Amino acid sequence: MKVLVINTGSSSLKYQLIDMTNEAVLAKGLCDRIGIEKSFLKHAKNGGDAVVLEKDMANHKVAIQEVINALTDKETGVINSMSEISAVGHRVVHGGEKFTDSVIIDDEVMKALRECIELAPLHNPPNIVGIEACQQIMPNTPMVAVFDTAFHQTMPKHAFLYALPYDMYENYGVRKYGFHGTSHKYVAQRAAAMLGKPIEQLKMISCHLGNGASVCAIDGGKSIETSMGFTPLAGLAMGTRSGTLDPAVIKFLMEKKSMTIKEIDDYLNKKSGVLGISGVSSDFRDLHTAADEGNERAALAIEVFCYRVKKYIGEYAAVLGGLDAVIFTAGIGENNDIVRKKALSNMEFMGIKIDWEKNAVKGREIDISTPDAKVRTLVIPTNEELAIAREALKLVK
Ligand code: AMP
Repeated sequence: MKVLVINTGSSSLKYQLIDMTNEAVLAKGLCDRIGIEKSFLKHAKNGGDAVVLEKDMANHKVAIQEVINALTDKETGVINSMSEISAVGHRVVHGGEKFTDSVIIDDEVMKALRECIELAPLHNPPNIVGIEACQQIMPNTPMVAVFDTAFHQTMPKHAFLYALPYDMYENYGVRKYGFHGTSHKYVAQRAAAMLGKPIEQLKMISCHLGNGASVCAIDGGKSIETSMGFTPLAGLAMGTRSGTLDPAVIKFLMEKKSMTIKEIDDYLNKKSGVLGISGVSSDFRDLHTAADEGNERAALAIEVFCYRVKKYIGEYAAVLGGLDAVIFTAGIGENNDIVRKKALSNMEFMGIKIDWEKNAVKGREIDISTPDAKVRTLVIPTNEELAIAREALKLVK
């Protein structure tokens, strides 16, 4: 069985075709600048070099057709026809409270997805457009929605409720939802396999540290707390997002800088985080280069980021009432030994003891703790596409 995984943004569409018999990636790529001039398709098959094809892609339907063309083409293709695709797995950012797990997409689900637009106005509309485009081009292929929020629907009410008047939750659904659920769930399952223990017996903290970043407390395989909130703006300081701040800062910005709500939203989502503090970049590789050259604000941005990771680990150990493993994943979590070192230093009192030589390893599954550490610290590359494909396969089977 072959599963096509689709991740749609407003002007982009990432895809992977995975052979589920051996979980090998047959082809992957990206349609970019959809609906804008100079749109192009970047496509690679069987782990080879990517080819970039200039394609006129006025909308997502044309983009999906171009993906199918590339997958079935004599030169770039890996399948003979579209009928070889058994299912399509769609990444959907927000499932609200309705979706606690992945679902096969039907008319009811589409209606519910549209109702979630209010909760994720930037993310859900392109996801819906991507699904509709696929449905038009592949009407007989089952489609599955896999939600970023679903894994966190096990959070208890006292964890997800904001201290606002209760009608904001009841009438408007204002609460913590959490994101990156597919990744947190995937690495938690890998961690249990690495430790050779049933996931039901483990208390774990998963740190998904990429351009967007979140921490999740996982008890017995279930999310019980996470750092992102009503939107993916909350929690850690991120590449360009502020993370959690005193809500009174909003009023201050409105008054002092005469900013509109739209401008503040932009400011907190796109101009803050480590980019905002450093004034250099949102990318940690650039921050380290600048810090090494003596840029103090770049160094400070790294400190702020790591300090918050450390704080969440302490907080979530308390919430879990014990700790078996800490997991680091995503671009920074997998590759950045300096961030891991800063976040994990002086944690011996709570059983976290790191072998600093092992910590230097990049981008592969490894237990970086010392043999006598009570808490295992694991680096686990995430694979959201594979997790989505597995969910799709599970449901269509
Ligand atoms: P992601 O959003 O998961 O792709 O992660 C992007 C972040 O990971 C950026 O801040 C990158 O600088 C960081 N990153 C990726 N590779 C490395 C690396 N080899 N060393 C340090 N940081 C890295």
